[in-house]
Amino acid sequence: KSAGVESGDKPVSPDLYYSKVPYSDVCNVFQEIEGTSSRLSIIKICSEFFSRIMKDNPQNLIPTTYLFINRLGPDYEPGLELGLGEGLLMKTISEACGKSLVQVKNRYREMGDLGQIALEARNVQPTMFKPKPLTVGEVFENLRAIAHSQGKDSQTRKIKLIKRMLTACEGVEAKFLIRSLESKLRIGLAEKTVLISLSKALLTNEGETGKEPSMELVEQAEAKIRDAFCQVPNYEIVINACLDYGIMELDKHCRLRPGIPLKPMLAKPTKSITEVLDRFQGQTFTSEYKYDGERAQVHLLEDGTMRIYSRNGENMTERYPEISIRDFVADLEHTKTLILDCEAVAWDKVQQKILPFQVLSTRKRKDVEAKDVKVRVCLFAFDIICHNGERQINKSLRERRELLAQVTKPVAGEFQYAVELTTSSVEELQKFLDQSVKDSCEGLMVKMLDGPESHYEPSKRSRNWLKLKKDYLDGVGDSLDLCVLGAYYGRGKRTGTYGGFLLGCYNQDSGEFETCCKIGTGFSDEMLQQLYERFSKTTLDGPKATYVFDSSAEPDVWFEPTTLFEVLTADLSLSPVYKAGASTYDKGVSLRFPRFVRLRDDKSVEDATSSAQIVELYQDQSHVA
Ligand code: ATP
Repeated sequence: KSAGVESGDKPVSPDLYYSKVPYSDVCNVFQEIEGTSSRLSIIKICSEFFSRIMKDNPQNLIPTTYLFINRLGPDYEPGLELGLGEGLLMKTISEACGKSLVQVKNRYREMGDLGQIALEARNVQPTMFKPKPLTVGEVFENLRAIAHSQGKDSQTRKIKLIKRMLTACEGVEAKFLIRSLESKLRIGLAEKTVLISLSKALLTNEGETGKEPSMELVEQAEAKIRDAFCQVPNYEIVINACLDYGIMELDKHCRLRPGIPLKPMLAKPTKSITEVLDRFQGQTFTSEYKYDGERAQVHLLEDGTMRIYSRNGENMTERYPEISIRDFVADLEHTKTLILDCEAVAWDKVQQKILPFQVLSTRKRKDVEAKDVKVRVCLFAFDIICHNGERQINKSLRERRELLAQVTKPVAGEFQYAVELTTSSVEELQKFLDQSVKDSCEGLMVKMLDGPESHYEPSKRSRNWLKLKKDYLDGVGDSLDLCVLGAYYGRGKRTGTYGGFLLGCYNQDSGEFETCCKIGTGFSDEMLQQLYERFSKTTLDGPKATYVFDSSAEPDVWFEPTTLFEVLTADLSLSPVYKAGASTYDKGVSLRFPRFVRLRDDKSVEDATSSAQIVELYQDQSHVA
C-alpha cells in the first residue's frame, strides 16, 4: 500500500489520481468553512469530512489533504507552483463560460475575485447535457499536469485542461477551482488546522466506531504527525505510515532519510553575552561562528549521488556544480549515506577567505556549469543528522561532532568545520564574537553541548541554539522577515516609485498577515525602482481577507503576499495602529524606526516572522514587565 515515494525526486503515486471522492463534496466543505469563523467549528467540519471520505478508501485522504492545503505535492518536489496569472484565467473563463473577455475584465475590476466571476458565469450558462462530475483524483491530477506544463504550447495545454474542468463544474466548484489555480483559496484555513483535523479523523478511523477521541489524544496525535512531517515533509508518506502502523506509532516508522530534506533546526535570538550565560547557567555550551551564507543540507544517497537542499527544502544541487560530497567523505567504503547540516559561503580562493553574503547572491540559481562558476563556495559543516541510515538527532551535540569529524575530512576552501570554542568566560566569548566578525561572520551560534537538550530538533526554533548577531546587539537581537502587504506612493524625490511599504508578520494559527509597521528607510534609489517594477505587477483591488490592519494605516496600493523584507528595528512598542499579536494585547506590537536590510527571496511568505515570535521579542525587552 505505501507509495514508493522514498526519495526527493519521485513523483506522487498514481494511486492518488484514482480517488473517486466527488470534487463537489470538497468544494461544499470549502464553502462552509468560508462562512465559519470559529477555529473549533472549522476543525469539526474538516475532521468529519475527512472521516467520511476515509470510509470508502483511506487513501482518499492524501489527494484531499493536498487540495485542502492548496498544494500539489511535497514542497521539495520541483515545478508544482500553480499561481496562474489573472490574464490566462480571464481568457479561459471567457472562453469556457461564453462571456466576452471585456465582460470578464470589467466584472473583475468590480469584484476582484476571479473564482466568484467563474461561478457566476457558470451558473447562468445554459448546458446542453449534464457533464460527468469531477472527482478529487481527476482534479488533483489535472492541477499537477497544469503546474508541470512547460515550454512551447504550454499555455494552450493549460487552457485546454482548465476549460475541460470548468465545463464540468457545478454548484460552487468553479469558484474554488479557479482560486486553487491562482493558489489562493482564501477560506481562512491554516495548515495547522488541517493537521489537527487530520489527526482527529485518523484517530476516529482507528478507534471504536462512533467513539470520538478526546481532545488530549488528538493533540498528542497532532504532535506525532507534526514531528513526523518535520522529518519527512511529505503528506503521502506520513499519511500512509499512519494508515499502515497507526498514528501513535508514527515516530517508529516515519523517520528522516537521505533523499528527503528534513526541516532544519532554527535558533532563537539573543541580545547579549550575559543573556546567553543566564540561559545556559551551569550547563556546558559551545559557540560556533555564525556564517553568513545559505543553509545547505547535504545528502549522500545510497546510489552515490549527492543532493543539496536549501533552508526551504528546495533542491539546489544544480546550483553548486563544483561541490562533490564524495571528496569530503573520509571512507566511501564505510559511509554509504549521510545527511550533513552546513552553511554554503562565498569563498575567495586566492586570498583564502570568506566573502560577504552579497557576493554569494550574485551566483546564478539554476543551470550553472562548473566551468562558469566565478564565485566559489565553501561548505562550513556544523552538524551531522544521519549516517548510514542511522538517525543521529537523538545523540548529544558532542557525540554528533565527534562522528562528523570521523566520517568526513576537511578540504581547505571547499569543506571545513564551523570554527568553535567551548568556554563560559565572558571575556573569551567577547573575544570570540569579535573575532568571528573580523573573519566575515555575522556573530556566533551558541549551542547546548551535552544531554537531551543538545539533541537536533528538526524544524524547531529552539532555546538550545541561540544566535548572537553582532550588528543586532543594540536592537531586539535579530532582524525580522516581514511580508510586504502594500505601499504608499512616493513624494518629492521618490515620485514615480513607492516611497514606503506596509509590512506584516504571519499568524501561524489563523493563516493571517498582521500589520506591524510602515517602512521607508534603508532603500537606495535603484532598490526603490526595482521594487516598484516588482510590486506593481502584484497589485490588488483591495486588501485580502487574510490581511489584518487598521484603517488609519491603509496603504495607497495593496499587493499579493509574495515577498519578505528583512528589517531591523530599534525596538518594539505597542500601538493602536498595528495588529501584530493583537490577540495577546488589545493593541498590536509594532517596530520603531524600522530599516530595510535586504530582500529575503529564500523564504516563502509563510516563513515570515510569526506573530508569536514578535510577541516574544516584545516581551523579552527588558522594560516590559
Ligand atoms: P531563521 O532561520 O532563524 O528564521 P534566518 O534565516 O534569518 O532566520 P539567521 O537568523 O541568520 O537565519 O540564523 C540561522 C541561520 O544561520 C541558519 O539557518 C544557518 O543557515 C545559519 N548558520 C550559520 N552558521 C551556523 C552554525 N554554526 N550553526 C547553525 N546555523 C548556522
